[in-house]
Amino acid sequence: DPRLKAISEAIRVVPHFPKPGIMFQDITTLLLDHKAFKDTVDIFVDRYRDMGISVVAGVEARGFMFGPSIALAIGAKFVPLRKPRKLPGEVISESYVLEYGKDCLEMHVGAVQPGERALVIDDLVATGGTLSAAIRLLERAGAHVVECACVVGLREVKGQHGLNGKPLYILVEPR
Ligand code: IMP
Repeated sequence: DPRLKAISEAIRVVPHFPKPGIMFQDITTLLLDHKAFKDTVDIFVDRYRDMGISVVAGVEARGFMFGPSIALAIGAKFVPLRKPRKLPGEVISESYVLEYGKDCLEMHVGAVQPGERALVIDDLVATGGTLSAAIRLLERAGAHVVECACVVGLREVKGQHGLNGKPLYILVEPR
């Protein structure tokens, strides 16, 4: 796809952020480039429009920057998967392991009905731990996770069993 090169180049790489040694992939510069931003959303929309997806679940915070546009275009609802203690209603929680420590994602009870077909979206996948927690939340609500989608990811993650066997769709590799 000839659009992918420009999408990749629109993502700024910030060395040593937030810690020494990390090459941070900054998608805020992609959002500044209207064509690259629109192409990103269009590629996802073209892929998911006819898959019978009724819920797009976005991972806080950068999944919120792509998920709602995709949901509106494919006729699905958007469900935010949030960090702890942000959602006001009754929630279910799933914790996951980070390089240093633990974190947790929460989803409102009742946001997703049993039997719904879900797409999980985030900006970037590294180990897959975050997406796995998202998958567990949706499956606990009785949804079928059709696929996980990220703008940036390592191809190696695709072949791993880390995502509970769910397929992973990635647009570009980290630079
Ligand atoms: P994982 O759980 O190891 O796959 O890490 C993915 C999570 O970390 C996602 O929610 C990303 O938003 C975040 N993340 C890790 N590295 C980066 C980066 O370089 N840029 C943007 N987000 C990142």
